[in-house]
Amino acid sequence: MSVEMMGIETVERDVLVIGGGPAGMAAALEAGVDPDCRVMLIERDPELGGILNQCIHDGFGLEYFKEALSGPEYAMRFIQQLRARGLEARTGTIVESLSTDCVVDLSTKGTLLRVKAGAVVLAMGCRERTRGALSIPGDRPSGVLTAGAAQNLMNMGNVMVGKRVCILGSGDIGLIMARRLVLEGARVEAVFEILPYSSGLNRNLRQCLDDFRIPLYLKTTVSRIVGKERLEGIWVSSVDEGRVPIPGTEKFIACDTLLLSVGLIPENELAVEAGVVLDPVTGGASVDDHLMSSVPGIFSCGNVLHVHDLVDRVSMEASLAGRWAASYAMGRYSAPLRKIAVQAGSGIRYTVPQYLSGTTSVSISFRPAMPDTSRQVLVLAGKDVVSRQSFPRLHPAEMGSIKLQKEDLAGRTSIEVVVE
Ligand SMILES: Cc1cc2nc3c(=O)[nH]c(=O)nc-3n(C[C@H](O)[C@H](O)[C@H](O)COP(=O)(O)OP(=O)(O)OC[C@H]3O[C@@H](n4cnc5c(N)ncnc54)[C@H](O)[C@@H]3O)c2cc1C
Repeated sequence: MSVEMMGIETVERDVLVIGGGPAGMAAALEAGVDPDCRVMLIERDPELGGILNQCIHDGFGLEYFKEALSGPEYAMRFIQQLRARGLEARTGTIVESLSTDCVVDLSTKGTLLRVKAGAVVLAMGCRERTRGALSIPGDRPSGVLTAGAAQNLMNMGNVMVGKRVCILGSGDIGLIMARRLVLEGARVEAVFEILPYSSGLNRNLRQCLDDFRIPLYLKTTVSRIVGKERLEGIWVSSVDEGRVPIPGTEKFIACDTLLLSVGLIPENELAVEAGVVLDPVTGGASVDDHLMSSVPGIFSCGNVLHVHDLVDRVSMEASLAGRWAASYAMGRYSAPLRKIAVQAGSGIRYTVPQYLSGTTSVSISFRPAMPDTSRQVLVLAGKDVVSRQSFPRLHPAEMGSIKLQKEDLAGRTSIEVVVE
């Protein structure tokens, strides 16, 4: 039986944005600049703001607003604009399914709603990798949780998660939580990182670990978890080049809490359902420079496209996605623009976008594969150097970007980004 026959309400919108975090809010605001474009923004939580609502530390907005804001303050600036412009934002609403032709089924406060959209912007963010994804051997006590879950419990629920804490993984969430736990009276024993370098921003290493004298052990991992009901301690081991624990290096550390800060996974189940092709490295959609995925009319931005370190870049990228989604929905163009393929070459882990139209100047985001200093990043087309830019510091924790002018792209069919 069709949805219409079942009596489920069906509405039409030009642009439907899924996810009310910073990406979704910026995309909706930009799509709504066109007064004829009917925009709907969907958020499953009761409040707009996404992950920012639990990030009560400051450091947001330095590029976008030229001010250091807390997460909720940054989010509030966008929420106020949405309200002032009267844009339709439905909270407490979850997208259940998304089809290739931009038909979206929603569950909104106990009722079902079908939206036939001209274009869809994916802005669903990320979820954290858990212990299950790491397969750490040992017991299964309480007290082992992701850093984001701990942040949510402490900052949103006013619940203290532990007294004696170890952190596995030096991603930004883990570093921020190390400082937060000390400020709340816990003892943070150490942060352990399997890689030979930290996977967090340099400023977070200084402000969250060095300033609080919390040691960071590189090339080290948790090799066993011990505890009957509550965590009693962990065994840590040094790892070899293949990241395998080295026998004989084990050390026991007593603690009641282990936080995991070991990576984020873009929430792309809906995208896959709609047939969107994902980039195996980013876990996000493979997009053109209008941020359209392989499926016409489905756009992607923010952490669901690739994990960002700075929210400012999320907002800028999402504005582009919103603008181009509105343009597509209003019939100004009709298909993904994949004229020039962008390849991640030597020294580069990934690039976004993965395709260019050649019709516009563009900024390509990239992550280097390894830390390095005083390097040039080149854009090559065969043997031609299309562009080169100097980077005093390259680090996998810091997203880089390189600008290309439309004129540089004339006549190209593929380009490669490499570290010289
Ligand atoms: C702990 C932490 C510290 C950080 N510190 C900084 C910092 O100091 N400075 C800085 O600039 N950046 C920082 N960041 C990064 C920044 O917060 C993120 O890059 C940014 O929030 C990502 O925005 P987003 O909108 O893509 O995702 P999110 O903020 O995760 O929002 C995604 C939204 O989509 C919703 N959603 C998902 N699926 C559905 C569905 N099916 N239906 C409806 N809604 C759905 C979710 O509920 C969520 O609200 C930090 C991030 C974290 C986690």
